[in-house]
Amino acid sequence: MDFELNKTQLLQRELFRKFAEEEVKPLAKEMDEAEELNPELIEKMKKLGFFGIPFGREYGGEGQDYISYALCMEEISKADASSGVTISVHTSLYCGGVNEFGTEEQKQAFLRPCVDGTSVGCFGLTEPGAGSDAAGVQTKAKKEGDHYVINGSKIFTTNGGFADYTLLFALTNPELGTKGMSAFVVPLHAEGVDISANIERCGIRAASNVVIAYENVVVPEFNRIGKEGEGFKIAMTCLNGGRIGIAAQAVGIAQGAIDETIKYVKERKQFGKPIAAFQNTQFQLAEMQTKVDAARLLVWRAAATKNAHGNYISQAAMAKMFASDVACQVTRECVQLMGGYGYCREYPVERMYRDAKITEIYEGTSEVMKIVVSGGMKLK
Ligand SMILES: Cc1cc2nc3c(=O)[nH]c(=O)nc-3n(C[C@H](O)[C@H](O)[C@H](O)COP(=O)(O)OP(=O)(O)OC[C@H]3O[C@@H](n4cnc5c(N)ncnc54)[C@H](O)[C@@H]3O)c2cc1C
Repeated sequence: MDFELNKTQLLQRELFRKFAEEEVKPLAKEMDEAEELNPELIEKMKKLGFFGIPFGREYGGEGQDYISYALCMEEISKADASSGVTISVHTSLYCGGVNEFGTEEQKQAFLRPCVDGTSVGCFGLTEPGAGSDAAGVQTKAKKEGDHYVINGSKIFTTNGGFADYTLLFALTNPELGTKGMSAFVVPLHAEGVDISANIERCGIRAASNVVIAYENVVVPEFNRIGKEGEGFKIAMTCLNGGRIGIAAQAVGIAQGAIDETIKYVKERKQFGKPIAAFQNTQFQLAEMQTKVDAARLLVWRAAATKNAHGNYISQAAMAKMFASDVACQVTRECVQLMGGYGYCREYPVERMYRDAKITEIYEGTSEVMKIVVSGGMKLK
């Protein structure tokens, strides 16, 4: 068993870390307050290939593995979780689905522009009435000749405000429930697509998150990914992979909070000495770092299993469940260690505390992760 990163992964981590430190971190506070990502930052990340890490070079991707992708997610999210989720939804949920289930022609049409840095993708599964229970999707795609007509509405679509394509899930045969769900690539500039303003949120405020209504949107049959009726399976496969990215995001947020707190406790003096000298501070930080290291190993295990085409479903769910819990605990305790200053917007741990919470909710709540993990334990 090898716990070390290989040479390529180490070089990749250095690149992500340097970029995050120099380009992302200085913008994080301003983007959170503006509730918008800096468009130039997105362009720089696209140019450096951050939007195509685990995809083949034949499609314009970087040809790297899922460990490298997890490293990118950790390092970028350490500086700014909003930038992290932007990459994650695009990579795991949109590109991951097209890459795994698209035909060669579809990959050239819908994957290539998204991994070569031209376009951005998003993922439309959740609806007002269908969250954890994705089987409750009501959006419909009616076949008419050589095309489909889509009607319905999707909520909480990350990247939806500026993405070019969505991987959308709709019922092609409503009688069959999940077996009647199909997946479509829908260009977001198509006639009948209506995109709302950003949904106001507690954290990851700079990320784009919108409601998208589809009214008589016509897409050619070519845009259907997989067979009719395979949509639910495709959605679940995308989410299983996506959980590795979100778990890595949670590790990044937690590590970022620890790093900021260490700087602070060495400087801040009370009772005549730096608060880092108190055993409580040292023990708390020791416990936090141990939990973050454990979470990171769970992420790497799931990513390594995915690289090896093994069954990573439970491992990804465990990683997300554990890492998101760690991120919430660690950021809360970091705020506490920094006292009143930790609670102020001047210091980044305040933002990290707000950002951490969503990792327990999106791409399957922690309760849903427990359903997935216990389901793999053959208890019944
Ligand atoms: C910021 C943000 C970004 C998002 N991005 C996307 C995106 O890009 N694309 C997309 O499709 N969706 C996206 N989502 C949706 C997200 O995946 C859902 O919010 C999430 O799956 C939970 O669904 P829900 O909010 O409807 O909560 P609900 O399903 O209503 O859950 C409410 C509570 O009930 C619990 N619960 C539900 N069912 C069970 C059960 N069987 N057993 C035990 N407890 C249960 C849940 O764990 C939770 O605590 C995003 C959401 C947010 C907030």
